[in-house]
Amino acid sequence: MPIVRKMSEIAVLGAGVVGLTTAVLLQSEIPDAKITVVADKFTIDTLSDGAAGIFRPGTSFSGPNPEITRQWLFDSYQHYYKIYKSSEAAKAGVIEASGYVYSKEFPEITKNHFLEGLLPVYRPATPSELKLCPGDWKYGAFFTTLVIESRYHLPWLTNKFEKAGGKVVIRNVERLDELAGQFDAAVNCTGFGAKKLCMDNKLVPIRGQVYKVKAPWVKMFFYGDYDTYIIPGVDYVTLGGSRHFDSYRKDWDDHDGAGILERCYEILPNLKQAEIVRKWSGLRPHRDPVRVEKEVLQVGNSTLKVVHNYGHGGYGVTTAPGTSKYAVALVKEFLENKISSKL
Ligand SMILES: Cc1cc2nc3c(=O)[nH]c(=O)nc-3n(C[C@H](O)[C@H](O)[C@H](O)COP(=O)(O)OP(=O)(O)OC[C@H]3O[C@@H](n4cnc5c(N)ncnc54)[C@H](O)[C@@H]3O)c2cc1C
Repeated sequence: MPIVRKMSEIAVLGAGVVGLTTAVLLQSEIPDAKITVVADKFTIDTLSDGAAGIFRPGTSFSGPNPEITRQWLFDSYQHYYKIYKSSEAAKAGVIEASGYVYSKEFPEITKNHFLEGLLPVYRPATPSELKLCPGDWKYGAFFTTLVIESRYHLPWLTNKFEKAGGKVVIRNVERLDELAGQFDAAVNCTGFGAKKLCMDNKLVPIRGQVYKVKAPWVKMFFYGDYDTYIIPGVDYVTLGGSRHFDSYRKDWDDHDGAGILERCYEILPNLKQAEIVRKWSGLRPHRDPVRVEKEVLQVGNSTLKVVHNYGHGGYGVTTAPGTSKYAVALVKEFLENKISSKL
């Protein structure tokens, strides 16, 4: 008798950069599955929307071990570089950018062991390059990387997902086990929402604040001391930033805002002419390590197979493809087990 295999139904909970990237990768890796993205916020209402989107993991970024962490970063860069080289780059909002990291006090800020082996160019700044911007910069590095503009990238991913038959549902999920019985597996990409859904004490908000300004003459990125950055995107330049560990405050803070402008103007004084188009603050979902793992939830007499993919902190745009590829492999393990246990 032929074996009749039911089409697997998979929910991706979350429509930020992590959820949408996961959903699209699931479609290509498990083409016979039915994928549904379930979320209560989309595009401009997500945290992902406000990120500067630069591919630059912090040196403390960590997965479960150093090998997996490096693999996530390698896979992420390859993923975005492929898009950047393709005819889809403009629609997907993936651009290349070069620039400097400067410091007056801390040589370690200018080093990044992840990027040094990954990017085509990552080298110390020359003495004349340290004088390109006002300020007595003592240490510096120059590198070339990618910027992924969420304002373009999220709609591009959504469009790709829907065109390939994916379904999008607007829904707030109070508990993960609500999805039991409706799906064979769920991938939890809820970012900071996982704090409540998983009662995860390791997930900590790191509040951040940025301006988006109109400054088309700025073509390079610049980082300075004390979390200062100027990052050109597709339409606007992001001026940042701030980092407040364990702060739940979501609204704009004028005092932090004034500090950001003062520090950015010191590096590029001509930014004083730039029109401010948006003031934005958000809570980075920080977790050490980022959680990408399987869990089977017991729900009454049945179970829900969950793969978690959250806690990317300040590096979710950078690392979404790598962690999502890993999460998709875990979903496949779940489904293969299910099929073999039925045979
Ligand atoms: C100021 C600032 C600058 C940043 N700059 C960069 C940068 O340059 N580069 C970089 O890589 N990263 C940057 N980040 C970090 C980046 O924004 C995050 O890591 C990333 O957006 C996390 O993506 P996510 O998909 O996990 O979460 P989100 O974008 O928050 O998406 C979560 C999704 O889950 C849904 N959800 C949550 N809970 C529920 C629920 N209970 N029911 C239904 N749906 C739910 C939400 O509606 C949403 O769709 C920055 C962050 C900040 C604050």
